[in-house]
Amino acid sequence: TAKAEAMEYGSVSRGTRAMFFMLTPNESSFQKVEEVPQYVQQATPFFVGLMVLELVLGLVKTGAPVITIGDGITSLSAGMVSRLPLLLMRGCELSAYIYVWDHYRLVELPWDSAWTWWFTFLGVDFCYYWVHRFAHEVAVLWAAHQVHHSSEYYNLTTALRQSVSQQFTSWIFYLPMALAVPPSIFAVHIQLNLLYQFWIHTELIRDLGPLEWIFNTPKHHRVHHGRNLYCIDKNYGGILIIWDRLFGTFALETEKVVYGLVFPIKRFEILYVQLHYYLYLWEKSQAYKTISNKLLTFLNGPSWKPGKRRLGDHVDNPKVTGKEVPHDPSWSLALQVYVVMHFLLVLRTYHDLFENKMMLSQLTILGMTGYVLLTLTSLGFLIDQRPTSAVLELFRCAVMATLQRYNCVKPLVPSLAVPTEVSTTVA
Ligand SMILES: [Zn+2]
Ligand SMILES: [Zn+2]
Repeated sequence: TAKAEAMEYGSVSRGTRAMFFMLTPNESSFQKVEEVPQYVQQATPFFVGLMVLELVLGLVKTGAPVITIGDGITSLSAGMVSRLPLLLMRGCELSAYIYVWDHYRLVELPWDSAWTWWFTFLGVDFCYYWVHRFAHEVAVLWAAHQVHHSSEYYNLTTALRQSVSQQFTSWIFYLPMALAVPPSIFAVHIQLNLLYQFWIHTELIRDLGPLEWIFNTPKHHRVHHGRNLYCIDKNYGGILIIWDRLFGTFALETEKVVYGLVFPIKRFEILYVQLHYYLYLWEKSQAYKTISNKLLTFLNGPSWKPGKRRLGDHVDNPKVTGKEVPHDPSWSLALQVYVVMHFLLVLRTYHDLFENKMMLSQLTILGMTGYVLLTLTSLGFLIDQRPTSAVLELFRCAVMATLQRYNCVKPLVPSLAVPTEVSTTVA
């Protein structure tokens, strides 16, 4: 058991260090892609642990919860939705990368060299800078990435508010690396780069001294999430901030940052959060007469208008006063408890789905994916307090009870299964 304990301690230590890019090349270099750990999936307990820690420290420091239920659940839901495609396919980034490596590689950097590891670290972070900059400067890519910026709060849950559609374009930017870097090393760094960006989404860490020169920190990334004029299109870096300093997109945090989109969406409904901007762009393009203006609506910056420069004039945006209050409609305690309970239930189903995906048929996976989407949509309707939410939730509970009867989902606590079923039967 001493050996088991040591191994347990080793994996907890590795897991913690993976969140802060503190793994050595030695313990995170692999020969084959299949050997690469699922760092992001294994990080779930660390996400939860750090979010609870932030909530407690935030309460102590500010006397109020730094996370609200409506916004927090919407962020976590977006994170869940963004990973659903992985149930049906290998990530786009890795699939395309392996294809280019197999067919077009020019050299093979040795997988077991620390030089390769560090070169890949720099290369992935450099490519991420451009993925991210294009995601802000090209409207159709922004339609995907705006999800991450749609919270008016800034806490660790915001980090998980991810786009479902961004992964279908971001892979292109990493392909040059496939000419030389083995997929197994790329597969490590694409995950560690993403994980590093979790802890920087907090207001509790104010300044990190000399680290601020080189690294992307909470202070720098707060500016990236701001809608103040001085924050727009700044600080794109992933792990390093040097790229912004080099390419002229760096801004230091000065006046109070007001978070979120220039035009806040004020909605919690999950598919709306993910997709509304595509609809907006389509409508915007329809208003223009010429083909070129229609096309430029999608290809230029989100603030572009005919006759303006490529990125538009941000001076035209609504003025930020610093007195803005995030959208947080009041709702009854009973409804809050209900939504949190059912969110935990679907989180359990979601987790089981990823754990067991190898043993499930494609059809079952598709059906369960639909159920997860339906549930998150319905909970979003409830948080938004839409008039139709009661009908949708009643329908969803009927689906849930059916799935429980056929053992497709497990109840959070076994005894809860009975009251849920009874209440739907009575209703
Ligand atoms: Zn961004
Ligand atoms: Zn962010």
